[in-house]
Amino acid sequence: MWDLKEYRFAATAQQAVSLMRQGPGKGAFIAGGTDMFLYPAGCDFVVDINHAGISDIARTPGGDLFLGAATTLHNLAINPLVTGFAGGIISEAAAHCGNRPVRSTATVGGNLCNALPSADMAPVLLALDATCYIADEESQESLPLADFFVGPRVTVLEDRLLVGLALPADAGSRSCASYKLTRSAEDISLVQVAVALDIRDGRIETARIALGAVAPVPMRAVLAEAQLAGQTVAEINPDLIADAAVIAAGECEPRDDHRASAEYRRDMVRVLTRRQITRALFENNTRTETGGTVA
Ligand SMILES: Cc1cc2nc3c(=O)[nH]c(=O)nc-3n(C[C@H](O)[C@H](O)[C@H](O)COP(=O)(O)OP(=O)(O)OC[C@H]3O[C@@H](n4cnc5c(N)ncnc54)[C@H](O)[C@@H]3O)c2cc1C
Repeated sequence: MWDLKEYRFAATAQQAVSLMRQGPGKGAFIAGGTDMFLYPAGCDFVVDINHAGISDIARTPGGDLFLGAATTLHNLAINPLVTGFAGGIISEAAAHCGNRPVRSTATVGGNLCNALPSADMAPVLLALDATCYIADEESQESLPLADFFVGPRVTVLEDRLLVGLALPADAGSRSCASYKLTRSAEDISLVQVAVALDIRDGRIETARIALGAVAPVPMRAVLAEAQLAGQTVAEINPDLIADAAVIAAGECEPRDDHRASAEYRRDMVRVLTRRQITRALFENNTRTETGGTVA
């Protein structure tokens, strides 16, 4: 049950933090509210951030792609700046999150600040080296998304506001593929794998493999990435890709729950990582897929 005493509106990011700190009692930011309404108990007041000027999607002068934290998943799915970046992998991930009514209000910031291991937007953004921008009352800090998650439902934010995310310009031309393994289109993921390869002159300069729902926080499979970096596309073979997938499966820390066993999740990391590397290599900027079964 909601037991709200006050609903506050913030006009700027700094004001949002200030309103959060005014008390009395426990407060929370609210964006789309799709998660807040599921877990409403315990808040004396909320600070609405939808009018705080953090909903824009823009290219910076340097070519980075900036996603305001209060941008809805629907906007991410259809905005041309996003559909045209990294083969549209961010748009595709957004389009596979929840259902249409949820996506019309749910925000990318809310998805990340929930800090669920299964947050749909985390793996693709990790694979593209996203940087988080965080507002305090009088200052702003940036840090890699990889350092944002502390544990299930815990981030580095405390009472600060996530303002947005920046994707480096060069990530826009990476060859990408991702997959959300889920029981149904509206369910959260059992396993997510996102692969982003920076291929130049036929050689993999950098590889990013990000995994969701298989560890306390969304994670990068850095040992598997190292297996791919430096390889030439002409010489890479199925055994090397399969080895990288086995390494990724060894890096994750899945757990049993009512949706799937840890053993199943780990094996799906192996299968899906192998497939996403292959797609990113040979289908070049392929699309995210969602599926309930893996043959
Ligand atoms: C039917 C249904 C289906 C769903 N399916 C999926 C799914 O398939 N995949 C998936 O990943 N999720 C799913 N969700 C969960 C949820 O919709 C998403 O995580 C969504 O992106 C949350 O965004 P929001 O704007 O609604 O967050 P809110 O509910 O407004 O906020 C979520 C949390 O983040 C905090 N917060 C929000 N924005 C900020 C900010 N900028 N700075 C600091 N803190 C902030 C809030 O205080 C709150 O603790 C589903 C939810 C529903 C109801």
